[in-house]
Amino acid sequence: MTETLTVQERAAIPVFTADELLRASSDALAEARRRFEGIAEVPLEEATPESVFDVWDQANMVLEDAFGPISLLNSVHPEAAVRDAGDRALIDESIFLTELFQNERLFERVRRVVPVTAAQKQLKKDLLEAFEDSGVALPSDKRERFKAISERLTELSQEFARNIRENKTVLRFTPEECVGLPKSYLDRVPKDGEGNIVVGFDYPDYVPFMMNSASAEARKRYYIANQNRGTPRNVEIMDEIVALRKEIADLYEVPSFAHYATRRQMVENPETVIRFLGEVKGAVTDAELRDLRQLREVKAQMTGVAVERAKIQRWDVSYYRERLRERRYAIDQESLREYFPTLPTLHWILDITERLYGVRFEERRVPVWDNDVFYLDVKDAGTGDLIGGIYLDLYPRADKYKHAAAWPVRGGSRKANRKPISALVANLDRRGLTHDEMETLLHEFGHVMHGVLSETQYNQHSGTNVERDFVEAPSQMYEEWGSRLESLSMLRDHCPTCPPVDESLASRIRAAKRFGEGIDYGRQHLYAAFDMALSGENPGKSLEVWKAMESATPMGYVEGTAFPGTFEHIASGYAAGYYGYMWAKAIALDLLSAFGDDLMNQNTGRRFRDLILSRGGEQPGRELVERFLGRPVSTAAFFAEVRGQ
Ligand SMILES: [Zn+2]
Repeated sequence: MTETLTVQERAAIPVFTADELLRASSDALAEARRRFEGIAEVPLEEATPESVFDVWDQANMVLEDAFGPISLLNSVHPEAAVRDAGDRALIDESIFLTELFQNERLFERVRRVVPVTAAQKQLKKDLLEAFEDSGVALPSDKRERFKAISERLTELSQEFARNIRENKTVLRFTPEECVGLPKSYLDRVPKDGEGNIVVGFDYPDYVPFMMNSASAEARKRYYIANQNRGTPRNVEIMDEIVALRKEIADLYEVPSFAHYATRRQMVENPETVIRFLGEVKGAVTDAELRDLRQLREVKAQMTGVAVERAKIQRWDVSYYRERLRERRYAIDQESLREYFPTLPTLHWILDITERLYGVRFEERRVPVWDNDVFYLDVKDAGTGDLIGGIYLDLYPRADKYKHAAAWPVRGGSRKANRKPISALVANLDRRGLTHDEMETLLHEFGHVMHGVLSETQYNQHSGTNVERDFVEAPSQMYEEWGSRLESLSMLRDHCPTCPPVDESLASRIRAAKRFGEGIDYGRQHLYAAFDMALSGENPGKSLEVWKAMESATPMGYVEGTAFPGTFEHIASGYAAGYYGYMWAKAIALDLLSAFGDDLMNQNTGRRFRDLILSRGGEQPGRELVERFLGRPVSTAAFFAEVRGQ
């Protein structure tokens, strides 16, 4: 027991070498196995919350101490040997978990426990569902098949992610193709001997190029390459994943993988998702066409062709959207970088988070996997008590995970006095952020706070262990702090030499952000509908399904692109769940209503911390939200936004 507590109280995570990682993995599995066997030995009539749930939670923390860091290092460690060892260890863990939740003796004991508290009742429900989802009730041949499928799915999603993360493709663009690109960009990116720029698929390379290069041909070339960054192999992998998921549905004798997956989410069934996506489609169709019409007008003006003949291609969207923002709102993303220098902006986010939630951040030196990474203790501002810790890994480097994400490396537990740790991983420009990048940082900060402010009884309920269609609500909500004067005005405290953000700029930022949301929501709808099609009753081949669906959109399918090979969300855990971004956005916009016109209201912030963030998955998301709001959830604000009202 003492040994476990030492690990739990250490507010930092181990940075394993490859050997240490494999040893930590096998030690944790052996120790957890020993503890779970102890539960299986409990006489049935003695199965209580203490003898079953408490021991289970301890075993869960033993696993988490190893696999929390492993899962993170697997995506961010600079050494291939460590990342590869992580792949191996995570497969072992996935096999272990499937066997665990197929164990009938454990299942029996969990079933026998009579919960006393609400958290115990929820934990019993969660565990029983995990048993059911791993096939404990299936006949033994089907159970074996389920196990084999799970292992294969883990391997395939790892290979899928690796092909993108470690893609070494570079593109070269001539000085003529770089016309329009900001000088700061051209100064920063590498050149070859002939004066061409050499760029890859990191966001700081790709996004500013697509927004600013005046050469449509160059943008087209870059767009098509980027849509193929998953390599042809990833399309094959996606097809195998989709077929295996359909086989899971068959094992369970349900019509589709979506039926299997959505029963654990807020929506409860695929019909609710389909109905929701239908409503989104109804609301977004006109808004998307209206936005495209405005982009065509800008293109017509700039190229001298008639509006009717000015077609907006996919590689034109960012470019003409930027030109429209410059013309109409006097805003362009590149020039915003001087308002949002990267480190001061981060300090500002820390500051507003401290005020809102009554916490304090203190930087502390701990072992890290790369020199750019740093760590902060999170303390309660009132009591000075340590609450948890966060790691920040903000900049691109070779072989690193390419998107922005938060890793819940360690969950908390009041019972075990265990402090949560989360890691924020992004690929930001070092010198300054566009408004989009600043929102991304706020978004991930929302996840990190959901993880770190957790005060659940059980480790298994900690932080972002909530329904997948709820988990994006706190993060999407936090994006709003990047667009309102109440919070933006505090930027000056962290960068006295930066140009000030006044109400005129803040309102132009909001207006510029709103323009083009019809196109964005149209795209989100397409992704979600595609995901549901692949999780449906007759999934088909992913690229063919995609071609058909994208062809039916106003901008059509671009020949030679292979988006399914890049769709990491559904190659991993978001299958039949991508709709959850928009579902949770509806909740996020509703949650915001509680702040009214004062985003920095500390009472509301504190209530949000206490009623939502600290509660993790101890209760269903809907109950938490409705207690916070004092009324049922409403989607009115969301549909008004989708319609562009
Ligand atoms: Zn997110």
